[in-house]
Amino acid sequence: MINSSQAIAALQEIYRFHASWVSELDLACHKGCAACCTRNVTVTEAEGQLILNGLQEQAQLDWLSQRLQLKGPTGRPVMTTNEWARDCLEGREIRAQESDQILAPCPFLDQNQSCSMYSLRPFSCRCFGSSVDCVRTGMAEQPDILMEVNTVTLQIIEHLGQGNCWGNMLDVLPMMIRKNESRQENKNRGELRPEKTGQYLRQAKPLPGFLVMPDQQAEIQDYLTGLFAVQIDSSNLGTILQINL
Ligand code: SF4
Ligand code: SF4
Repeated sequence: MINSSQAIAALQEIYRFHASWVSELDLACHKGCAACCTRNVTVTEAEGQLILNGLQEQAQLDWLSQRLQLKGPTGRPVMTTNEWARDCLEGREIRAQESDQILAPCPFLDQNQSCSMYSLRPFSCRCFGSSVDCVRTGMAEQPDILMEVNTVTLQIIEHLGQGNCWGNMLDVLPMMIRKNESRQENKNRGELRPEKTGQYLRQAKPLPGFLVMPDQQAEIQDYLTGLFAVQIDSSNLGTILQINL
């Protein structure tokens, strides 16, 4: 089992590696362009913890609670990325999504249409990217290779968080805040009570295999080889994840 501090360190390295790979692409995205910032962002618990740790360091937890009170309806997928990948790899019929995507703006956008916690944003937000300005054209055009790199990276991040919660960021963060408060109350009372988990959340699943189109396999293999070689303390990401390529 991957411990939580190892998972957080691994996550930060994955974000860094992906950002460096994306910087080579020619994308139309720029600060203040936020049509992609809706209420459909999914996270693992480790990603939620990274956000909570960062906001706690910046004394911004009250701001977070206020923002979460404004969250409104959220997009709630019925399958995690690895559940979906498993069904595809096993040739099963994919279940329809329970709810439509919610296109209302993310509550973390500021008045300038910029993300208020940009450096802490989870990987789903780092997947946004279009070769054309979607605000102008009305639709994103994502290069195929970016879509593939994003999918395998989402799969790895879920594998890293396996056994813990996975779901919409706006459901996972309140659940984690409640869990932390309940832990603190129980500690104060000297009791050990069961912790409530949130509704609509799923459990992150291990990697069932990577979902890659045949014509993208060589490039994805290079990406994964580089990613798995990233050093984390005295080990590397591939060893921590226990995934063989
Ligand atoms: S994905 Fe589209 S809306 Fe989002 S930043 Fe890029 S161009 Fe703007
Ligand atoms: S967390 Fe930030 S980057 Fe992600 S959707 Fe919300 S405003 Fe956009």
